[in-house]
Amino acid sequence: MAKVLVVEDEIEMANGLKDALMFDGHKVSLAYDGEAGLNEAVSGAYELILLDIKLPKKSGFDVCREIRAQNIRTPVIMLTARGREVDKVLGLELGADDYITKPFSVMELLARIKAVLRRYADKQSNGGEWIRIGKLKVDFSRYMAEDDDGPLELLHKEYEILKYLWEHRGEKIRRDQLLDRVWGYDVFPSTRTVDNYIVKLRKHVEDDPNRPKHIITVYGIGYTLIA
Ligand code: CA
Repeated sequence: MAKVLVVEDEIEMANGLKDALMFDGHKVSLAYDGEAGLNEAVSGAYELILLDIKLPKKSGFDVCREIRAQNIRTPVIMLTARGREVDKVLGLELGADDYITKPFSVMELLARIKAVLRRYADKQSNGGEWIRIGKLKVDFSRYMAEDDDGPLELLHKEYEILKYLWEHRGEKIRRDQLLDRVWGYDVFPSTRTVDNYIVKLRKHVEDDPNRPKHIITVYGIGYTLIA
C-alpha cells in the first residue's frame, strides 16, 4: 500500500487510475494541472507520483524537474504519449524513475508501480556509502549530507555537481561538461551558474572557502576535485 499522487488533467483517465490504484490497496489523491500537482508533490506526503506530461499550467517535464530541484526524492512515473514524448523523457535528465506509454493496461501499470516502489525501498534500506570530501560527508545514493555539526540540506544540483566531480576526481572538468551533465540539454544557463554553485559547495566542503583545497579552480577550464 502506498500513498499515490496522480497528476492528470483528463478526468476520465484520472478517475480510472484512481479506481485501479485503490482497488490494488493504494491511497490516491488527484491533481488536475501541473501547478496543483507540484504543490501537492512538494508537500512530501506521497510515496509515489504518477505524472502526465501534457498538463495545463505547467508541463509534467517541468513539474518533475522542479520536484527534484527541491530535493524531493519521491519516485516518479511519467505517463507519456508514444513518440517524441518518450524520446524526451529518456533524453532529459529529469529525475523520473520510470515511464509508461499511453495507452497502457492496468496490469502493466500496477506491475511498474510495484517495481519502482521495490527499487526505492531497496535503495533506502541498503543505505548508501558515506563519502568524505573535505569537511562534508555525503551519500549520493540517498541524497544525504552532513558535517560535524549534523545533517545538511543540499540542493539537488549541488549533489549532482559534487557527484560528477567525485566520479571524475583528479580530472579537469570543464564548465560546459557540468552544464551538460547537471542541467541537461534544453536549458541554457550560463557557465556563471556553475561558478555560483561551486561557491555554495565550497562552503560545505572547504575549511576555508577562500583557499579551497578540494574543489580547485583550473584557470580557463573549470574545476577539479581533490578528495
Ligand atoms: Ca494530459
